Amino acid sequence: MIGGMSLELTFLGTGTSAGIPMIGCDCPICTSADPRDRRDRSSVVVTYPRSQPPTCDAMPDRYTVLVDASPDIRVQAIRHDLKWLDALVLTHAHADHVMGIDDLRRFNAVMDRPLDLYAEPSVIRSLEQMFAYIFQPHRNVNQSFIAQLLPMPIEPGKPIELGGATWLPIRLMHGRLPIVGFRVDWAGRSLAYCTDCSSIPPQTLAQLEGLDVLVLDGLRERHHPTHMTLDRACAFAEQIAAAQTYLTHFAHDHSHAELEQRLPDGVAPSYDGLVVSLSHNACRG
Ligand SMILES: [Zn+2]
Ligand SMILES: [Zn+2]
Ligand SMILES: [Zn+2]
Repeated sequence: MIGGMSLELTFLGTGTSAGIPMIGCDCPICTSADPRDRRDRSSVVVTYPRSQPPTCDAMPDRYTVLVDASPDIRVQAIRHDLKWLDALVLTHAHADHVMGIDDLRRFNAVMDRPLDLYAEPSVIRSLEQMFAYIFQPHRNVNQSFIAQLLPMPIEPGKPIELGGATWLPIRLMHGRLPIVGFRVDWAGRSLAYCTDCSSIPPQTLAQLEGLDVLVLDGLRERHHPTHMTLDRACAFAEQIAAAQTYLTHFAHDHSHAELEQRLPDGVAPSYDGLVVSLSHNACRG
């Protein structure tokens, strides 16, 4: 983390649901020597200075929000020295975005407190089925070491306040499945994270005005029923006109180098470990 008076987004993973390299694939991308062609399952962490002073020694100065808990969260957290989460927000309940939930128990142990989990009610219901042993612990045969999560329902268009930043859940369509993305506003800076979508409804486009940074699904060139093609993502990027757009959730169809070359000005491919830092607006020289 770079830190300071900034709103920061770190890409923990930028790959599609199977990750890159994919199991059993020896294509040029899956065997590439370029580290940017290795992509964990998609998730990001967003941090900014805390509005209230830390209340214990273990609590870092920066408020830290994890967006989605991928199956790769354990290695992602270790790689980025993530030890504390103030909140988990979820876009939807697909396996590549929630299967890391079991590993969040380590954060509970380190922080010695439960973790607030913000998601739509339908996502919370899915999690209760997928992780019955976490959400109905009284039914477990043995008392075991499980994540402690406090579900908090969210609704598109209804902003929530997290540690001094405003998080607005926004409606996206992932094929026929309605999911959410998030717009984050802090100290005059703004970013939006819109993974796993094939289209953006008109009312959502109105909520994406004036962004410093937009992160958008950009799976691959070929059509996919539930994700954006590169062309479609670029068309939305042009329409939304954020100062900078990053694409994410890539399949193994294109190398990072090729993506860098073919994407238009103002649109760049993300990669695992990329940190985007937006300084406090009042500090801009
Ligand atoms: Zn996904
Ligand atoms: Zn491959
Ligand atoms: Zn999905």
